[in-house]
Amino acid sequence: MKRTIIFLIAFCCLVIPLSATAEDDLMYDLGSRAAEVGMDLLKFEPGADNILALTNAGHAIVKGKTTERALSGLTDMSGLRNGDNNLYQVNRPDWKGLWFYFYNKDSGLAAYMEPDAAFYTMSTEERTALPADKAFGQVTLMSANLDTLLANPNEGNTTFNKKKFGGNEFSLVGLSNVWAAGATYDFMNAAAFHDHLCPGVTSGYMIIKYIQKNLPITNQSAETYIDIGCPNWCKEDAFQMIWDSTPGKNSMFVMALSPDDEAALKAKYGTRPAGIIIRWNDAAKKGKGVALGFDFDTISEEVGVANWTGPSWAPKLVQDIGMMDYIDKPESVITTLKEFDIDEANLTKLKTAGNNPYKVLGML
Ligand SMILES: [Zn+2]
Repeated sequence: MKRTIIFLIAFCCLVIPLSATAEDDLMYDLGSRAAEVGMDLLKFEPGADNILALTNAGHAIVKGKTTERALSGLTDMSGLRNGDNNLYQVNRPDWKGLWFYFYNKDSGLAAYMEPDAAFYTMSTEERTALPADKAFGQVTLMSANLDTLLANPNEGNTTFNKKKFGGNEFSLVGLSNVWAAGATYDFMNAAAFHDHLCPGVTSGYMIIKYIQKNLPITNQSAETYIDIGCPNWCKEDAFQMIWDSTPGKNSMFVMALSPDDEAALKAKYGTRPAGIIIRWNDAAKKGKGVALGFDFDTISEEVGVANWTGPSWAPKLVQDIGMMDYIDKPESVITTLKEFDIDEANLTKLKTAGNNPYKVLGML
């Protein structure tokens, strides 16, 4: 009897890891097949530095299981890795289907693929007999180079209107082109967290650069940045990713600003209000803050999208690339509308529901 129990326990110990391995292996297999198809279509060797891989693997849940092993399969086959700035996990809801995408910055071509649902239920033997590309129900090879798409608007119209990248066109074309233009790792990371690149997330990155110069952290152990995100826009996601300022940790408070109040601030200060950033010292219980303005009008004029007459999918992408030139000179469009010192009682007023932070600061 004792021997039987010992045998059963030993058997269970063996079987549980084995079944887990078989399931992990399916995702690993899928990621490595995506890499194989991408390498074939975009003609690259493992580790090529002209290739960017994007995927929602690790965020997507497939049949109740996480999908991170697809990343290992993809990296092992293609040599593309996050640590080399050429593989990013793009944030998506866990209930959205899995996809893989590769971009060749020299040819401008992109390969996009979505798994065939049948692949998820295949046995190891069935998968072994299956050619790499047959794991995918959709495989697209299209240009994702913005200049090419602008020069051939019909091609761009097809890509965007026919959803050639499964509805991810704006996100993938933006991320690809800004990566090819030399975007840094932290910037790519913020955009990937935001789900896409857009002028809004770039404005957040520029505010971070502006604050680094004008309100730098001087005490790493005691200070944090608190964002009073009023009005909120895509910039808030850059603060979460790069400053670790998050609502859950009481370092981000987001609230809408009424159109009337926004117009009143714009009339008074001559630029669009862009929120309030506080450098808070939690040991001293006091901080220093700035209310900022961001001049999107000048950028739109200068990058040529103010009176856009081209295809409707293009102006934000053109602005995304154009704004890359402003990243190192944030003071050209960002201004400090008000500087202030703050204590705990006033910080509480700024972040409490029902208070308009600009009224608390005496700006309205
Ligand atoms: Zn956005």
